[in-house]
Amino acid sequence: MIEEYQRVYAKIDLDAIRSNMDHMKENISSGTRMMGVIKTDGYGHGAVPIARELEPLDYMFGFAVATAEEAFILRHSGITKPILLLGYTFPYSYERLIQQEIRIAVFRYDMLEELKKACASLKAKGISKKAKVHIKVDTGMSRIGIRPDAEGLDFVQKAFEADEIEVEGIFTHFARADEEDKTEANRQLKAFSDFISQIREKTGKEIPIKHCANSAAIIELPDANMDVVRAGITLYGLWPSDQVSREIVSLVPALSLYSHIVYIKEIEAGTSVSYGGTFTAERRMRIATIPVGYGDGYARGLSGKGYVLIHGKKAPILGRVCMDQFMVDVSGIPEAAEGDEVILIGQDGNERITMEQLGELSGRFNYEFACDIGKRVPRVYTKGGKILYTKDYYQDF
Ligand SMILES: *Cc1c(COP(=O)(O)O)cnc(C)c1O
Repeated sequence: MIEEYQRVYAKIDLDAIRSNMDHMKENISSGTRMMGVIKTDGYGHGAVPIARELEPLDYMFGFAVATAEEAFILRHSGITKPILLLGYTFPYSYERLIQQEIRIAVFRYDMLEELKKACASLKAKGISKKAKVHIKVDTGMSRIGIRPDAEGLDFVQKAFEADEIEVEGIFTHFARADEEDKTEANRQLKAFSDFISQIREKTGKEIPIKHCANSAAIIELPDANMDVVRAGITLYGLWPSDQVSREIVSLVPALSLYSHIVYIKEIEAGTSVSYGGTFTAERRMRIATIPVGYGDGYARGLSGKGYVLIHGKKAPILGRVCMDQFMVDVSGIPEAAEGDEVILIGQDGNERITMEQLGELSGRFNYEFACDIGKRVPRVYTKGGKILYTKDYYQDF
């Protein structure tokens, strides 16, 4: 392994990302294309290498992120397919977004006005471009989005009327598609479909790209395929919830997390371990120090609950996880030595630690665990078993 990454590194297997997308594509209609949701730097996995891996695939419509800056960095890295901003976007960024053909989710009248202004300002500089937008409809999240009612219809009409604006898409988002009971998801789907029919009837116009499916819906709600589906968590090989079937689409976790033992010592019965002395040895024990902590996003909630794999065996965490270090019990792993590899997330032989397990043990959500893997953790990207890129956020100054 790369010597300077011995403390900790995350390995992201781009082949796994690719196969997860392929398997989801096999589960949807042939005419439906896919959007890779790579917000929060690709759920902590790294948006740029993932976008580069997926962009050449014909079935990829494009990508979705949450903020203007997340979109700019993708364009800066050479990504040319459509990028959609899923959330509210602040007007300071509109001119740059329009120039770079980044699609904005719209749902406020003042956003339409600001977009027109930005187009006019670009025109004055000799740049003639329309603002491409996707209209966001709220069918049950009560988050952003117009309501699918008369006022909503008026908003859609206003967007159609503006010469500077091209309505490329319309979308909604499910609040409960990851539950076994799909009643609410189907109600949202119907509200969205009915609204699209109303738009068609009232305006005579067809919005080209209609989309609503997230990961859970890609797996379990075939009626929600439409023109594009938005794959987030599943693209990384993680599951939307424990209620989603594991039988329909096969997924492989793309990320594994490694460290190395930096110190081994024996402690006597009665000795406490780590801050607060929350663990005290009841017998003589052999313990190892691992140089990773909550400063790396390795949740403090794993204190006394989590475990790591050393030589394919489970080593439980003793006492509290510190900011930069934690201790594990290696009494049952006599071959464990300083310098040996430690798996924090991943597989070794028959044993495996998943993001879902760590989420559950630490009281975090698996999505959150992934997003929280910190900037102090270098990323190593592999393809065909070979290292393709490395990314160390601490070298970018
Ligand atoms: C995050 C997000 C997604 C992706 O959700 P997953 O459950 O990760 O697939 C899709 N659509 C919107 C609007 C989102 O905010």
